[in-house]
Parts: sequence; structure tokens; C-alpha cells
Amino acid sequence: MHDHQRGQPGTGQQLTKFACLDCCSVFKRAVTDVGKRNVPRLIEVRRCPACGGDMYLMSSDFRAPRKQDAKAWAVVAALTRAGLPYFRFREALPLSVLGHPGRRPKGVLGISSTVGRWPETLAEADDFIARYRHQAMPLVRVDE
Ligand SMILES: [Zn+2]
Repeated sequence: MHDHQRGQPGTGQQLTKFACLDCCSVFKRAVTDVGKRNVPRLIEVRRCPACGGDMYLMSSDFRAPRKQDAKAWAVVAALTRAGLPYFRFREALPLSVLGHPGRRPKGVLGISSTVGRWPETLAEADDFIARYRHQAMPLVRVDE
């Protein structure tokens, strides 16, 4: 196997990260849809080749913790099972961040920013999931 250049289109199937939350392993698999690997998409659930458990499609932004780091993996599992496996999504910001209404640029209906910081503890994950539940993507089991 050899690496394709980042973002290069039309070079066959891209590989996507899947994480098994049972044995804390990451595998790369081809998926049928192509496109950016870090934007929200259906979360495919496949059988883990190592332990037979469920492995979940992850954003390419996902960085696997060390296998021994059970606390970090618990956070990964909470976010992933909630439908938020590190996809890059945007959140709306209040227009007030632009200042006084009279000084706002014309035609601005809304602004947003990319959600950049991911939770590192289970307590943070709970807050994050409560806040971004509406951004969650559905889990879809894929039989291979
Ligand atoms: Zn596994």
C-alpha cells in the first residue's frame, strides 16, 4: 500500500479511519463515498477485525490516544456513540459579536465559527454532547 497525496481527487478510493471502542484500535478502510474526511457524514459501524466488536467511522481529525489511556478512550467512546466522532463542524455565533447593528457589514445574516477544541475529560464530553447534540450524525451498521 502506498500513500496518496493529501486531497488529491480521482486516485481511487480514499481510506477512512475506523476506531474500535472495545479494543481501542484504529483501522483504515475504504468507504464508498469520497470527499473530505473531516466533515460530518453518516457514521458507518463495522465489525472490528481484531476483537469482533463494533468499530466506528471517525473524522480524519481524530487522533487515537495510546491504547493504555482508558480515560482518553472513554471520552472518544462517549463522543463517538453520541454521533460526534471529531467531525469538523461549524456553530452559529450571535450577530452581537460583530458589534453595534449600525456598524455591521451589509447583508450579513449569520456568522459561524469552526468548533475547534475537543473535550478531554468525560465531564467536558457531557457538556459538549449536550451543546452540540443537534450536530450529531446517525450511526449506520454496515454488513461486510
Ligand atoms: Zn476491536
